[in-house]
Amino acid sequence: MKNPTHQPIVSAEENLHRKLSAVDKWDKEVKAFIEVYREDALKRAKAVDNRIREGKAGPLAGLVVAVKNNIAVKGKRLTCSSKMLETHRAVYNAAVVEKLIAADAIIVGSVNLDEFACGVDGTYSTLQRTKNPLDLERVPGGSSAGSGASVAAGMCDAALGSDTGGSVRCPAAFCNAFGFKPTYGAISRYGLSDLAMSLDQIGVISKDKAVMKRVFDAIRGTDPRDQTTQLADAMLRKKPAEAKVIGVPKEFFEGVDKHIAAGVKKKVKELEKHYEVREVSIPTLKYTVPIYQLTMAAEFSSAMNKYDGLRYGFTGDRNEELYSSFSKARDAALGKEIKRRIMIGTYITMKEFKDAWYSQALKAREVMKEEFASVMKDVDVLAGPAMPTGPWKFGEKMTPLEMYAADMLTIAANLTGTPAIVEPLSSDFKDGAIQFYGRHFEDDVLFGIG
Ligand code: GLN
Repeated sequence: MKNPTHQPIVSAEENLHRKLSAVDKWDKEVKAFIEVYREDALKRAKAVDNRIREGKAGPLAGLVVAVKNNIAVKGKRLTCSSKMLETHRAVYNAAVVEKLIAADAIIVGSVNLDEFACGVDGTYSTLQRTKNPLDLERVPGGSSAGSGASVAAGMCDAALGSDTGGSVRCPAAFCNAFGFKPTYGAISRYGLSDLAMSLDQIGVISKDKAVMKRVFDAIRGTDPRDQTTQLADAMLRKKPAEAKVIGVPKEFFEGVDKHIAAGVKKKVKELEKHYEVREVSIPTLKYTVPIYQLTMAAEFSSAMNKYDGLRYGFTGDRNEELYSSFSKARDAALGKEIKRRIMIGTYITMKEFKDAWYSQALKAREVMKEEFASVMKDVDVLAGPAMPTGPWKFGEKMTPLEMYAADMLTIAANLTGTPAIVEPLSSDFKDGAIQFYGRHFEDDVLFGIG
């Protein structure tokens, strides 16, 4: 697919029409959207245009935004791309959706993801297969597959995703867009279906860095319904610092495609004109994948207990004995990868084994946080590649372990709670993307770099 259009905004209605015609033109093939809120969006665009005329419009007036379908939009389907929730509708708006509406953004629809956000290329979605608009034979990246694809195909100005281990940054990198995962606790997760609560953060993808920043500014801040956001408002009042020193962890280049590593190094060289660049070492980066897998599986298996075939969506056989109905419903309605993670998570948190696996992962995570904090005393940001490879073709063999390893450069930001941004390196999506990590609550610094 060639030349998706990214024209400037004329009016909210005009902008929406352009985005909807891109949906009509491409989405039969790309399959980014689970639901298009056409009528609602058209009504809202008219209302927003009125407010623009009256001079009362909010900071996102007329921007068209797509929302990953694990974020609640009241009255709309909330499927998490799982059979378990295929018929489920959200009964309230997520905090970020309330804020998008208050800022006069137009929510154009919900977009596809790997089932319950578990995946790295979009292919673990059980509802539909989302393709990379830049090359329909390739994966769009995951788990926010529809977020990346809808942005790349010009079907929205920005898309929200969720990032537990890289799910915003991977599709941004694969779809040649900007992707941003804020500091843990910068944005309320009220209304987000959690994958792993100590890692999850809502983030933004856009072709335009300034738009990405505007969306982030509109949705960030303290929310009494999410205790992790307690510091968010205080941090907003802090004067944004500026980066002077860039650290380049040598571990970020191990196991990375030669072409991508060379591109990132070339970009870092260019940055030397404006910043002091130092090589640094963060030895625990070698262990990000096992630390992440253990932490994520433990939290995920516990978060999934609520899907019992009784309370949400898929209904099991109510005449059966309780446990067998519960178990059969989960067997019928959850995908293979979800079951694998529930089993691993349940196993490693069993009383007999927990000191062998889960507690060790928690300890290692603390060591990683200390190493990060110590390195980041002397450098303002870290730089490295976003993903070890470009997007692969559908059907290319990827075992679960290969999939897990593909996250190796992104998950440290989730384990340490730091903000991270990815930026395309060239106009060709196969050239990969550079990634910058920042200090806690120094999210704004990341928008000034690169
Ligand atoms: N790819 C990672 C996983 O499969 C991260 C997912 C995410 O960030 N939601 O768990």
